[in-house]
Amino acid sequence: MLELHTFVLLCCSAAPLWAAPTRSHLPPGTARFWHITDLHLDPSYHLGPDPTTVCLSSKGAAASGAGVFGDFLCDSPFSLIRSAFTSMAALTQPQDFIIWTGDSPPHVPVDKLSTDAVVQVIANMTHTLRQHFPQLTVYPALGNHDYWPQDQMPDSTNAVYEAAAELWKPWLQPEALSTLSRGGFYSQLARPGLRILSLNTILYYGPNRATRNATDPAGQFKWLEATLQDAARNQEKVYIIAHVPVGFLPFASGTTAMRAGANERLVSVFRRYSHVIAGQFYGHTHRDSVMVLLDRRGEAVSSAFVAPAVTPIRNVLEAYSNNPAFRTYWYHTGDYSLRDVWQYFLNLTEANQKQRSDWRLEYVMSEAFGLTDLQPRSLLQLGLSLLPAPSRTFPTYFSHYMVDYDRSITCEGECQLRQVCAVLHMDRPSYSKCVSERRAGFSQL
Ligand SMILES: [Zn+2]
Repeated sequence: MLELHTFVLLCCSAAPLWAAPTRSHLPPGTARFWHITDLHLDPSYHLGPDPTTVCLSSKGAAASGAGVFGDFLCDSPFSLIRSAFTSMAALTQPQDFIIWTGDSPPHVPVDKLSTDAVVQVIANMTHTLRQHFPQLTVYPALGNHDYWPQDQMPDSTNAVYEAAAELWKPWLQPEALSTLSRGGFYSQLARPGLRILSLNTILYYGPNRATRNATDPAGQFKWLEATLQDAARNQEKVYIIAHVPVGFLPFASGTTAMRAGANERLVSVFRRYSHVIAGQFYGHTHRDSVMVLLDRRGEAVSSAFVAPAVTPIRNVLEAYSNNPAFRTYWYHTGDYSLRDVWQYFLNLTEANQKQRSDWRLEYVMSEAFGLTDLQPRSLLQLGLSLLPAPSRTFPTYFSHYMVDYDRSITCEGECQLRQVCAVLHMDRPSYSKCVSERRAGFSQL
């Protein structure tokens, strides 16, 4: 069992913020919010002579680059999460809010955790957030690791949903807490005319045996449609937040992140209510990617973002990982349409060498891709610019995908084809058509 109270307190002086630029004034009519995801705290992380025992999450593999802020084969030490929050806190303004799309516990064998251990990690992260951001509301979504055994979230009330509803009382109102404790989802007005809708997409996650045969687990689809209908009637805009994204995994061939049937169903709901949904925000893949939802005529109708993780962990068999990351979104205060993403990161190797965490701005999305804003048409423009002509944009996109992990790693041919079709197509028929019709264009390069 993990010693959940013994955190690694190895470092650290407050992270210098000289390199994390902020504009003292947002442009008129603009506000912003923060997105953190996949914290994956590994309380067992500790430095010592044997690299195979630095962290339980490396599962015996040698964490040869281990330093005070972590290792690419380990989940986050507490020092990494604290340095992220400290850097963020220095940049926040009182009117900001935070979305937090889940996955707090570490990637460790099932017998190293328990329901109590999972709840303790979620509680620890909740308290750490409240300490660093006492004035901000945080809107959480549950991830597949926020349960024990992982992925097995039930379609009815249980100890984890109830614990989350208790822990998140400072941020959520009674109506939201009531659906949260029953099914792990909720909605709440975040600003006048802006509703955050937090979905429990773990109910649709392939490995979840608890919901395998259910047609509408926890009645979430019914609730989602009713909530969107009400929002439309009340002339609200909605931001969808969830852990497991809709759409196709950018690194796999023809695989949706959630079950195929649930994906098609969600896509059809999101198309029907695209006039209400002003943005979709996800985690889970640990990498940085975008998706544009097209309607049946090929018109761009919704913008979706998958934010990179705070944890730097990669599987020992994977060729690359991501540097630790967090981001802000800028939005128009009038209609809540999206203007920009500011993506921040920590160069983990450098931070360990210097024993100092200089979180820096990695890129600004509109500037990196020459876009006027991040509305659906602009994301379609971005997606089309990734198609081979050859694409001058794609290497930049792929480097951001890995949060600047290693620019010498490239993605061409089939790898690029998967990435680009996942940006442009979220439903099965049009994704399959993209892969088959565009394959020749990618293989000629
Ligand atoms: Zn995760």
